[in-house]
Amino acid sequence: MNRFSVLDRSLIKNRLTDTTFDILIIGGGITGAGIALDASSKGMRVALVEKNDFASGTSGKSTKLIHGGLRYLKQFNFLLVREVGREREIVHNLAPHLVVPEKMLLPLLKDGTYGKFMSSIGLKMYDVLAGVRGDDQRKMLNKKQTLEIEPLLPKDILRGAGYYAEYRTDDARLTIEVLKTACNYDATAINYCKATDFIYEDGKVIGAKVVDLINAIGFDIKAKYVINATGPWVDELREVDHSKKGKQLHLTKGVHLVFPHHKLPVRHSIYFDVPDGRMIFAIPRGQITYVGTTDTDFKEDKCDIKVTKSDAGYLIDAINNMFHSIQLTIEDIQSSWAGLRPLIHKEGKSASELSRNDEIFESESGLLSIAGGKLTGYRKMAQRIVDLILIKKMNIRGKRFIKTNTKNITLNGSSFKNYKEVKKYCEQIFEQIKSHGFTRKNAEYLVHNYGQQTDIILNKYQEIKENNPELRLAKSELWFCIQYEMVYLPLDFFERRTGRLFFNIESVRRLKYPILKELALALNWDNKELENQKSILDKTISNVVSF
Ligand code: FAD
Repeated sequence: MNRFSVLDRSLIKNRLTDTTFDILIIGGGITGAGIALDASSKGMRVALVEKNDFASGTSGKSTKLIHGGLRYLKQFNFLLVREVGREREIVHNLAPHLVVPEKMLLPLLKDGTYGKFMSSIGLKMYDVLAGVRGDDQRKMLNKKQTLEIEPLLPKDILRGAGYYAEYRTDDARLTIEVLKTACNYDATAINYCKATDFIYEDGKVIGAKVVDLINAIGFDIKAKYVINATGPWVDELREVDHSKKGKQLHLTKGVHLVFPHHKLPVRHSIYFDVPDGRMIFAIPRGQITYVGTTDTDFKEDKCDIKVTKSDAGYLIDAINNMFHSIQLTIEDIQSSWAGLRPLIHKEGKSASELSRNDEIFESESGLLSIAGGKLTGYRKMAQRIVDLILIKKMNIRGKRFIKTNTKNITLNGSSFKNYKEVKKYCEQIFEQIKSHGFTRKNAEYLVHNYGQQTDIILNKYQEIKENNPELRLAKSELWFCIQYEMVYLPLDFFERRTGRLFFNIESVRRLKYPILKELALALNWDNKELENQKSILDKTISNVVSF
């Protein structure tokens, strides 16, 4: 594994300014990361710039499912169901520790949207389109069987359930591992660098002007092709290129709330109807259960997406309405997040009705913009745009590229053949750490987060002198994330590399000051900067529960 470190920032910047790349990608979400891997594995010279941290946009704020999109069947979008349905298994095989099987329950209720017959047919169709095999194929459960596995469901109106298979992931970690894998193929990527303008020659875009937001110094990056993969910001860059014509983006906000698991003790992930005809997930994950999502038009500041009281109220009502023995209140919320769907606008369609398909726009200057799509479909989106460049355009004068398919490139942190091997490795890690007071859950957290890179973290753990095992492990993780994952700011670590802000906020409260000190030491912050970062982190911790 290559070092991918904030400590090498000036080397990375030298490389960005000294090279003429085949492709420059703007945007470090899953779309940009996927394109970087596809193109670099074919031998192209690839650069990627991200104005914030990697996966700080939509790719860190999704429902965190690698799923076939059952609800797209309702929109008769069979092609999308087929494509993302089939992608699920591929992405699982590329990183079985990070994309883990998750059984879903689709409860059938008196007067609900789905009757037993329709659900049975729908789920069967889902299996066929997505190519689901064996034990993972859908099962229809009667009321008694459903209540046995999920006693929290409402007995009086329950008729049974569909039981089917999806996958759960951590979107931000998936993005960073895809990007690290691209860097193993020599892609050059940097965070906290914003593309502010394009460079043109004879009316054709040949690069971008970029500002390093850490020291406010600008620099140029030259490339034969420039791809705008900025998700919700795609139209902003099209505007800079004077090419925002025809189809445009329609942004909708999606909110998730996190509750302590004992307050919403579902045993399974449940996908259920709400009275306005939408559907909502309740997903148990370790000590918490998260619930989402909303889908409302968004026209405000894309860099400051708030969870409002009304968003929280909508989701809490949905839960209380569904699970009669649960009475959640706003005070029970432990954490939350909100993201923007970069959908393609269609006249007369409401937020929930808009297609989730991706599209590529090409401007007269040659700028390629890609928007829409899903986390699950990142590989295919990448393939489409790289193939477009290769097949239709790339008369890159006599240059030959390798024929690769990213479905055969396992992601960083995984040489697991299947999920069984992941579980075996979890046990090995547990045996290694239990004498330090750690539990099986701690081992699972490490393995699901870092895969086999856990070995590197535990080697570091041996070297660190610290009496508190939790802090000692967190310091080892931080060291790893600084050396290999471009962590620069506290939230890069607490939110996007470890998921703690959402899934274990208490640990953030316990660890925040010693970790900040460690970061300050590694990055040479003075006291003023340390205090500044402390107050930003404290504000964020309070924001995720303030509405
Ligand atoms: P982003 O992740 O937003 O990345 C774009 C990046 O570009 C950002 O990081 C931004 O900072 C950067 N950028 C912007 N402007 C510039 C600039 N000028 N210079 C440099 N960088 C710039 N899909 C699934 O498959 N499963 C799910 O469970 C799921 N759930 C979802 C739930 C919600 C609430 C939402 C909103 C979406 C969900 N999706 C899901 C869809 C999926 O998350 C998105 O399709 C995907 O993350 C979009 O990724 P992206 O890389 O295109 O955009």
